[in-house]
Amino acid sequence: MKRVSILGATGSVGQSTIDLIRRDPDAYDVVALTGGRNIAQLAHDARMLHADIAVTAHEDLLPELRAALGGSGIAAAAGCAALIEAARRPADWVMSAIVGVAGLAPGLAALEQGATLALANKESLVTAGPLLLRTAEAHGARILPVDSEHSAIFQALVGEDPAAVTRVIITASGGAFRDWPLARLAAATVAEASSHPNWDMGQRITIDSASMFNKALEVIEAREFFGFIPAQIEVLVHPQSVVHALVGFCDGGLMAHVGPPDMRHAIGYALNWPDRRPLPVDALDLAAVGPLEFRAPDETRYPALRLAREVMAEGGLSGAIFNAAKERALDHFIAGHLRFTDMSAVVDEVLSALVATPEVRNDAPTLDLVAHMDHLARHRADAATETRKL
Ligand code: NAD
Ligand code: MG
Repeated sequence: MKRVSILGATGSVGQSTIDLIRRDPDAYDVVALTGGRNIAQLAHDARMLHADIAVTAHEDLLPELRAALGGSGIAAAAGCAALIEAARRPADWVMSAIVGVAGLAPGLAALEQGATLALANKESLVTAGPLLLRTAEAHGARILPVDSEHSAIFQALVGEDPAAVTRVIITASGGAFRDWPLARLAAATVAEASSHPNWDMGQRITIDSASMFNKALEVIEAREFFGFIPAQIEVLVHPQSVVHALVGFCDGGLMAHVGPPDMRHAIGYALNWPDRRPLPVDALDLAAVGPLEFRAPDETRYPALRLAREVMAEGGLSGAIFNAAKERALDHFIAGHLRFTDMSAVVDEVLSALVATPEVRNDAPTLDLVAHMDHLARHRADAATETRKL
């Protein structure tokens, strides 16, 4: 039996992971599930999967979680330290599907106990890529990509000589506002930005898809995880979202990964790796999809892509600044304090202000240093929002 834990079990990726695990109960021994405010879902899934422990991020919700688990024998815990403790419980495979930099410390804890970390939480690679990779290496642990584009690249690389790779192309749907006139973007509402044309995901990543901050994070994620040089990483807008990524080789060939936009493919690949097993994913009917389009992204529409290039050029802790400023700008957009188009202006301002900080030049950061930069960037992002506040 494979011992599995799911961090961020109540979210979109977490629920897709549970959907795969519950179909084969004899194959998995569920150790820990973690969630946020949705206690009913967390307790329901912990009971269904006979988890050892369920953890909510919110200490005030511990009594509610305890009550919901009453009589089940499943342990309940709450708070940041409890999340880390849950991730540290011995398991063979841990899904990292918390949203935001909050996923970093639990992901590191899972690696420290030697687990295979199935990484949906791209923010941890963007913020602290070298720390994550070093921790995996030091503990003989493995990181498997779950972001669909990175799973696609990983699959296209099987059996290939990394030295023969000359380019990678990450596709982007273009998000909710792909076809909107530019002038309309400033007035885009949270509800409008929260609906994705092809993928069904959590609200934050859906809004990040509309602004392309998600793709910006993914470009940096590809650099950190696979070690590609920035000039090798390209982005193409592909409205049909069936080609997830392409890897180009020195002989001119491109290997494309094609599949329906269903995260259970990438999650299942990481769950069954190195084997392939049947998954409950619809067969792709390419004739029904029809013509596949690819076009270069317009960086006026998507300034986040230019900012990602700046982050890769700066290196060090600039990813931590970028991610924290983005998370804060997104909080302010969701709260109605910022225009959609001002999120990138805020991130740009924070990056310019902080990138020269001496601590940024550090290629082997500690968690404390990352937390320090994250804190500085959030503070700056709040100040940069103040001058643009609606
Ligand atoms: P979501 O918002 O649906 O779920 C997030 C989960 O994290 C929930 O369980 C929530 O309770 C928990 N959480 C939120 N804040 C937390 C905190 N401060 N501390 C502890 N737990 C917290 O998000 P999602 O769409 O499932 O995305 C999860 C991660 O996977 C993100 O990093 C996202 O970028 C990545 N990802 C998602 C998809 C997708 O299809 N949804 C695809 C690729 C990558
Ligand atoms: Mg993705």
